Amino acid sequence: MSKLTRRTFLGNTALAAFFGTTSSALSSVQDPPLSWRNWSGGEVSYPKSRFSPATEEQLARFFATSLGSLRPVGSGHSFSALVPTDGHLVVIDQLSGLLAQDETRHLATFAAGTRLSDMGPVLAGVGQGMLNLPDIDRQTLAGATATATHGTGIDFKCLSGYVTGLRLITVDGGVRDLDVSSQPDLFAAACVSLGALGVVSRMTLQNRAAYRLKQTTWVEKTSTLLQDFDSHTSAHRHFELFPLVHSDYSMALATDETDEAINNPAASPEEDAAFDNAMRGFMMIPPSLRRPLINTLAEQIGPSERVDVSYKILSNIRNNRFNEMEYSVPVEAGADCLKEILATIIDKQVDVVFPLEYRYVCRDDTMLSMSSGDEDHAAISIHRVATEDYRPYFDLIEPIFWKYGGRPHWGKIHSLGAGQLASLYPRFNEFTAIRKALDPQGRLLNVHLRKVFGETI
Ligand SMILES: Cc1cc2nc3c(=O)[nH]c(=O)nc-3n(C[C@H](O)[C@H](O)[C@H](O)COP(=O)(O)OP(=O)(O)OC[C@H]3O[C@@H](n4cnc5c(N)ncnc54)[C@H](O)[C@@H]3O)c2cc1C
Repeated sequence: MSKLTRRTFLGNTALAAFFGTTSSALSSVQDPPLSWRNWSGGEVSYPKSRFSPATEEQLARFFATSLGSLRPVGSGHSFSALVPTDGHLVVIDQLSGLLAQDETRHLATFAAGTRLSDMGPVLAGVGQGMLNLPDIDRQTLAGATATATHGTGIDFKCLSGYVTGLRLITVDGGVRDLDVSSQPDLFAAACVSLGALGVVSRMTLQNRAAYRLKQTTWVEKTSTLLQDFDSHTSAHRHFELFPLVHSDYSMALATDETDEAINNPAASPEEDAAFDNAMRGFMMIPPSLRRPLINTLAEQIGPSERVDVSYKILSNIRNNRFNEMEYSVPVEAGADCLKEILATIIDKQVDVVFPLEYRYVCRDDTMLSMSSGDEDHAAISIHRVATEDYRPYFDLIEPIFWKYGGRPHWGKIHSLGAGQLASLYPRFNEFTAIRKALDPQGRLLNVHLRKVFGETI
C-alpha cells in the first residue's frame, strides 16, 4: 500500500466518501418551488418569499414596511435550525465586497454578505490577511460571526472577536452603527447575534499584514498528543487534532508563519485511490473489530507539509456532506471530555468512522460566543455523514458534553433550550433583554430560536 498523507485523509475524499456517501443522494429529492435547505440537507423549509436587497436602504425599507416573520440567511452552512422560516427569507448575497480599508491599522470593512472565501484574495490585494479562519471558508461574514464561527490557536479568538464595528438594521427599519466605544453592550450582543437582533449589513474586521503559513501534519497516539497538548498549542500558531474513532491515534496539524516558498500541490489521484481502497476494506468490518485495522492504517499515514498564503492553509474544501455537533468545554476539561467520548464510541460500538475535531479557542468579550468570558475553551466536534440519522450518535454523546460544562456551537446541532443556556452564558439574560427590546413582536424568531430564547410569542 502506498504511503498516505493528511491531504488524502482530510481532503475532498474525506472519510464520508469511503462510505459511498455523495451529495447526489441529497439532490435526488425534488422539492416544490421556493424550498430552502441547509448545506447538510438536514434542515428544509418553505419560505413565503425571498428578499434579496441590493442596498442597505432597500433592506431598511423592507423591514419597515413588511409584515410577518423574517429570517436572515448567509450561505446556509449551519447545521442547526437557525434559518428555517415560513416567512420572509432575507438573503444578503448582493451586499458583498470590500467597502473600505485602513492600510496602517489593518482594518477592513466588508459588506456582510461577502463569503469568507472571497475575502482572502481581496485582502491580499491590499496587503492584509485575516488573523484566523474556520475549517472551511464558504460561509458569509455575517453568518459566520452570527454563530461565533472559529478556527483554532491559543492566541486566536473566534471571528466575532475581531469585529471592531458593524451596521445593524433592525426590524423597525432603524440603522445602527455600532462599535465597542459607542454602545458597548449592544455591540457585544450584535457580534454574535444568531440573526435575532436584525440584519447586519457591514462589518469592520481587525486583520494583520498579509502572511504565509506552513502546515505540518502527522499521526501520533492520541494519549501522547493530549499529554503534550499544552506544549504544542504554545509552540505553534495553530494546533489541532482529528482524533480517529475506534483507534488509538489522532491526526495532528501544526501551523506556523513562514517565509518559505509556496509549495501546496494538489492531492494525487493515486493517493486518494490507495486510501479509498484501504478504507473500503475495513468498513466491511463490524465496529468491535475495527480498532487494530484502523491503528494499522493510521500507522501508514506519513507526515506531510505544505506552504501557502494564509487563507489557503487555514481553510479547506469539504465536498462530502455531514451533520455536526460541537460543544466548547473549558480548556482544562477538554482532554477528559474527549477521552470519554472516544471511549464511549468504542464501548457502545458506534458505527462511525468520521474523525472528531479538537481545537483550542481563545476567550473573547462578545456576549454569546462559545468562548466568551474569562476562560479559553476546547471545541470538540462529532460528525455523521448526511445520509445517516445522526440522532442516536449525537444523543449518546451530548450528555458527555454537558457533564464537562460544554456550551453548544450555535450553528451546530444541539438540544438545549433557554433554561440550560442561561446557566452556561453569564450574559445570556442580558442578550435576551436586548433581543426583546429590538424585536418586541418576535418577527425574527423561528421555532428553534423560540426554544433557544424561551419565548412563546
Ligand atoms: C462543512 C462545514 C464546516 C464548518 N466548519 C466550521 C469551523 O471550522 N468552525 C466553526 O466555528 N464553524 C464551522 N462551521 C459552522 C458554520 O461556520 C456556521 O454555522 C456559520 O454560521 C455558517 O455561516 P453561513 O454564512 O452559512 O450562515 P447561515 O448558516 O446561513 O446562518 C447562520 C446564522 O447567521 C444569521 N445571519 C446570516 N446572515 C445574517 C445577517 N446579515 N445579519 C444577521 N444575521 C445573519 C442567520 O440568521 C443564522 O442565525 C462549518 C459548517 C460546515 C457546513
